[in-house]
Amino acid sequence: MTLQAKVHESTPPVTLGVYVHVPFCASTCDFCAFYQEKPQRQELERYLAAVEGEMRLRPLERPANTVFWGGGTPGLLPSKDLKRLAHATRTLCQQSPEEWTVEMAPSTVKADKVDTLLNSGVTRMSMGVQSFQTKTLDALGRLHSPDQARKAYATLRAGGCDNINLDLIFAIPGQSLDAWAEDLKAAIALEPEHISTYCLTFEEDTALWLKLNKGQVRKQSVEDEAVFYEITWEILEKAGYAQYEVSNFARPGYACQHNLNTWAMHEWLGYGPSAASQYQGERLTNPHDLNAWVQGIEVGKPTFEERIQVSDPTLFVDAWIFGLRTNAGVDRRLLEKRFPSAWDKASLDTLLSALCETNLLQLGSEDHYVLTPQGRLLADAIAEQFMDLPQR
Ligand code: SF4
Repeated sequence: MTLQAKVHESTPPVTLGVYVHVPFCASTCDFCAFYQEKPQRQELERYLAAVEGEMRLRPLERPANTVFWGGGTPGLLPSKDLKRLAHATRTLCQQSPEEWTVEMAPSTVKADKVDTLLNSGVTRMSMGVQSFQTKTLDALGRLHSPDQARKAYATLRAGGCDNINLDLIFAIPGQSLDAWAEDLKAAIALEPEHISTYCLTFEEDTALWLKLNKGQVRKQSVEDEAVFYEITWEILEKAGYAQYEVSNFARPGYACQHNLNTWAMHEWLGYGPSAASQYQGERLTNPHDLNAWVQGIEVGKPTFEERIQVSDPTLFVDAWIFGLRTNAGVDRRLLEKRFPSAWDKASLDTLLSALCETNLLQLGSEDHYVLTPQGRLLADAIAEQFMDLPQR
């Protein structure tokens, strides 16, 4: 059985994910738009007490299957704080999650932290390496060196971590295709179970975005980005990493279940500043500000920057958009069963036929749709067409 088929069949219908945002980073990377702050002991204490409070105030109504600690840099917390946060997370989940990922920056990986995390039930570590070349790391404003990334990886393995993801970034200004191929090969040489590759985006108000606007760096062209994507797919496929989503590749059995649950538009709850949730018919976003988030929890009333009812047509369209980004694709019959009255059949038929005729989409067996390699390169543009579908 191929990984592609396995991922599709194993997508469970009602899994529940928990996301915990740890909003601290030692410095801000030039490309980063995530909410984060420089850590101070007092702030860490406030954060930990508030996240415990939020978990008590917003409990789960059924046990959680997967957990993802992201940030920020969760690995920046000292061992005793990691233990405290892990205890609160396990209590919230009501069971040991089947998959529990923690994001680590190479400079934060220490043997005692790895030990604490694995003993607390963490099953997977995700390390933001981004590149194995000093020049590229400098261009991204990253703090670590290539050597530090390799040492951190060795520390994770020595500590007993048997499920590691490495994040890499491509299409960085000045990066050649050869340099990118070298980065991929350096990652493959370490033999992680999972590799995520992200095309650099210039998010508003980041240091890189400012440099772009001042003409200090040049964006890679769309045509060049497409070639970066193509060589990524080719090199990783040859090395035994099956692509299961536009940016994600895994050895058989190591696809990230937490993300698959999210892309299938099931449910997840987010804790911590800026964390998002999709739960019981609502989409919620926590305040993008530590103080505003803490204050709500301290008075026993969590506040939300956004709180909207999420309708079946929205979930239906999003399940198509995110589902098509996966190599498993979308089973139309399953989606129609989940959202029987959400779609306008004639418009959907027209869109699907047009995408198939232009060789961007393939109809597999029994109403099962998968993007072609060409379609995968245009996944964002295809998403816009789904967003324009008329709702019932
Ligand atoms: S470590 Fe991660 S979250 Fe922190 S600034 Fe860098 S990219 Fe952003």
